[in-house]
Amino acid sequence: MASITEIRKKIPQDLLNSFYDIFDIHTVDKILYGFSEKKLTTLRVNTLKYDIKSLMDYFKQINIKFERVKWNENALILKNADERDLEKLNIYKDGLIYLQNLSSMIPPIILDPQEGEKILDVAAAPGSKTTQMAAMMKNRGFILANEVDKIRAERLKYNLNLQGVEIAEVRVGKGERIGDEYTEFFDKVLLDVPCSGEGIISIKDSKTYKGWSLKEVEKLSRLQKKLFESAYKALKKGGIIVYSTCTLNRKENEEIIDWAINHFNIDILSIERLDNNFLNGITTGLNDEVKKCIRVIPNDVYEGFFVCKIKKKD
Ligand code: SAM
Repeated sequence: MASITEIRKKIPQDLLNSFYDIFDIHTVDKILYGFSEKKLTTLRVNTLKYDIKSLMDYFKQINIKFERVKWNENALILKNADERDLEKLNIYKDGLIYLQNLSSMIPPIILDPQEGEKILDVAAAPGSKTTQMAAMMKNRGFILANEVDKIRAERLKYNLNLQGVEIAEVRVGKGERIGDEYTEFFDKVLLDVPCSGEGIISIKDSKTYKGWSLKEVEKLSRLQKKLFESAYKALKKGGIIVYSTCTLNRKENEEIIDWAINHFNIDILSIERLDNNFLNGITTGLNDEVKKCIRVIPNDVYEGFFVCKIKKKD
């Protein structure tokens, strides 16, 4: 594992400075270690096709060791198998399981889509959360799964099909337009926005951090605001939006929520802290309500994530 000093030298200086601006030294060290730790493989059983008991029995038979996740009965952390091992198995090829980081499973759990509801997934490819939500809804209801990138939309369609999702319609286009096309149509919206990806940095793979810049963060933050506005418009009064990113900075997280509080008729709802590794939102200079958001610090299991639950007032 790389030392903290090596990691500090490798990642962009502006990125490092932005961490020291918002986190204490201890948390920055944790984040930097998180960047260098090899992640354990985690997965979710696809309850549209299989069940957790059968999966655990099967893993015992083939000697795959696992740990359960206290806040998600359908997820497992694998101790002695990685993605490559799993990709060889029929349960993977047939869509009985879905390989997904635990952090990425949080937003759908917080949104809690119900059978029969109309759900909007604004930025859906490759479909980790769309497939999770369809399973939670037992394939009853409707999901509009939107994606701007045509190639990624093909991957989304492939995954929906493999996982046996029957209630999702794929829309290929800008998420910014959905609010006008489907005004006050959806019961709930998942707004898992494009972001700078600081939570998925791996120090071994320079592609995960070489493209990072303050300019890019600013650009993404402008797009995130447009997508928020569209999501708010598409949501029924009284409905719920879950806003999430896989990045750690304030601009794409708390500042978006602070801006939303000042521009829309919303309440921020509390989120249960499912694990000790989750921190509250950072509020310095912002509305105190932002504290109700959660930030997941990356480690050997979790990717870095930010999640906020929002209610559109009646
Ligand atoms: N929710 C996905 C999942 O769980 O599998 C991951 C989504 S990823 C964080 C963000 C996605 O937003 C990317 O696939 C990207 O192509 C897409 N995207 C970027 N700009 C967009 C826009 N203007 N409208 C809709 N989607 C956009």
